[in-house]
Amino acid sequence: MDTGFFGKILWVNLTEESIVEELLPKEMYLQYLGGYGLAARLIYEHMPANRDPLSPESIFGFFPGLLTGTAAPLSGRYMVAGKSPLTNTWGDANSGGTFGPEIKRCGYDAILFKGASSTPKYVSIIDENMEILDASEIWGLDIIEAEIKLKEVHGKFIKASGIGVAGEKLSKISGIANDKGRIAARSGIGAIMGSKKLKALVLRGNKKISFYNKNRFLEFVRIYNASGTQKEPNKLIRSILRNVPNLAKTIRRFRIGLTGPPKMIREIYKSFGTSVGNTISTETNDSPIKNWSGIGMYDFPFKKSKHLSAINIQKYKIREYGCFSCPVQCGAILKIPELNLEETYLPEYETCCSFGALLLNNDLLSILEINELCNRGAIDTISTGATIAFAIECFENGILTTEDTDGLELTWGNSKAIVELVKKIINREGIGDVLADGTEIAAQKIGKGSKKFMMTSLGSEVAMHNPRVFPSLALTYAYDPTPGRHTAASIDFIDIGPINKFQKGFKLPSGWKKDQRKKQEGQKLTTCFHQVLNSVGLCSFSTLFGSYPFIDLINSFTGWSITVDELIKIGLRIQTLRQAFNLREGIDIINNKLPGRITGHPPDKTGPTKGISIEYEELYKGYCKEMGWNPENGYPLKETLKNLKLDFVIKDLY
Ligand code: SF4
Repeated sequence: MDTGFFGKILWVNLTEESIVEELLPKEMYLQYLGGYGLAARLIYEHMPANRDPLSPESIFGFFPGLLTGTAAPLSGRYMVAGKSPLTNTWGDANSGGTFGPEIKRCGYDAILFKGASSTPKYVSIIDENMEILDASEIWGLDIIEAEIKLKEVHGKFIKASGIGVAGEKLSKISGIANDKGRIAARSGIGAIMGSKKLKALVLRGNKKISFYNKNRFLEFVRIYNASGTQKEPNKLIRSILRNVPNLAKTIRRFRIGLTGPPKMIREIYKSFGTSVGNTISTETNDSPIKNWSGIGMYDFPFKKSKHLSAINIQKYKIREYGCFSCPVQCGAILKIPELNLEETYLPEYETCCSFGALLLNNDLLSILEINELCNRGAIDTISTGATIAFAIECFENGILTTEDTDGLELTWGNSKAIVELVKKIINREGIGDVLADGTEIAAQKIGKGSKKFMMTSLGSEVAMHNPRVFPSLALTYAYDPTPGRHTAASIDFIDIGPINKFQKGFKLPSGWKKDQRKKQEGQKLTTCFHQVLNSVGLCSFSTLFGSYPFIDLINSFTGWSITVDELIKIGLRIQTLRQAFNLREGIDIINNKLPGRITGHPPDKTGPTKGISIEYEELYKGYCKEMGWNPENGYPLKETLKNLKLDFVIKDLY
């Protein structure tokens, strides 16, 4: 008997108010693993093409990874997926904390929703008891308040994931949050939940996950957690590493790469989380500055960015925080007396940049407040910050005035106005209603030539890393099935950590940095491997921390004898299906273009990215060839589809 998965998913139909189990064959797991893989397969199959993502026919779901819920290190992630209301492409997002493992403890490999309720509802699955319940008492509350109320009703051991006010108000940049404000933020999936009048999913399970060989599995976990890379470095090294955010100017001057040995990266992540990038990325021009029009060292120099330094944020830290089963614990809980906040999450780099350097805002307290507001409202900080950057540039150019902005002076770095605008966006008040669906819809509403200030890809605000520093980010920003995403396996970005050390047998082609053809081959490998990581439930950071018993854990968990090559093929199948989803929706992927500012057209005249322009179209064509897709239009070839057992896609694309 195969073990390691339940072979069972749950369908909740909110129109019919029914909850039905479905058994999945073993073949499904061998082909798609779990997480993103199952999501791609089930949503492609069950959601008809060209439907409004906010209609009752829209399907979305919660998908823990194959290893989620076990002690496998860094495997506690879950995904939400559906058709993105923001881009009308494939949409997905992922979150950590403790919610994903609870889906497994309820005995399911996925929970999917279809239909829509006419009144607010939440779904509770507690032990054997499954109910669709009235949510009128928690509708209108932020997600942290709602979670507290749900615990009062169902007990403190439940886990809840749901939408804040932004999702209720169908903001197309809203997400879904669990564990008091950890968000699966991107793609606007919160709006799908809002359109179904579904406030939350409440879980408490009592099922045990079965293992093919539990002792062997736990031995691999023990060895990893006890390995050198997981132990703290000595005091001296630790004190140097803990000063890294202050070395931003030195890192820029000496062009020190952002890569390093696993032990060092792990220590930096453990100390600061991703906020370590707040100063370093600004100096190196990795951070977009002033709606992508500025240069870090001049427009937001260290004397400004140092206010947002990870070291400054650490002053508020009261304890470490991390996801289920993670030995790294890159998060933290902060206490901010100035804001009367007893507990709030450490903001991620993406949040600090999208409300910091992108808006020329060096007021740290405003960013900490915004982080809490966005966690409570359950709204994507990348898209919200980027949309505000767009609005400020409109204001600067007279396209918006105080008459349009409810009196707010939308000038660069005006932190008070930015905080107020975030509140208005979450609540769809005044100018907030214009901006609540992201930049492109705002530009359509505003008109007056405002489109030229949109920094988006296929409707999605792009993330806070610069393709002129990590060139293949242009590829994933422009063409990944979830456009604008920095977590979509750009080979240059993944190279921050020693990916070749992660799993024996997985190796990028040597010389890929200088040889375009090898880079295309490497991009295929990172893309496919990344789909597998997401399907297994591993955190994207896991590849930064050195050797990991990846295949050993999968095989001792399931009883399979899977190999690296087979995993790459599974990843290829998942990415091909995500691509096919977009093509079936009529998305013109191959002709998508990124704004010139993002790719250096024209290039900077000075600074760390002086003279750099990124050409990504030819790289994509080569990548398509590697993937077995037609380089002229991005369509997977028929023989590729057959080879991947995706024959059912052929009738949709040909
Ligand atoms: S490294 Fe950080 S984000 Fe990743 S699993 Fe660990 S605590 Fe969560």
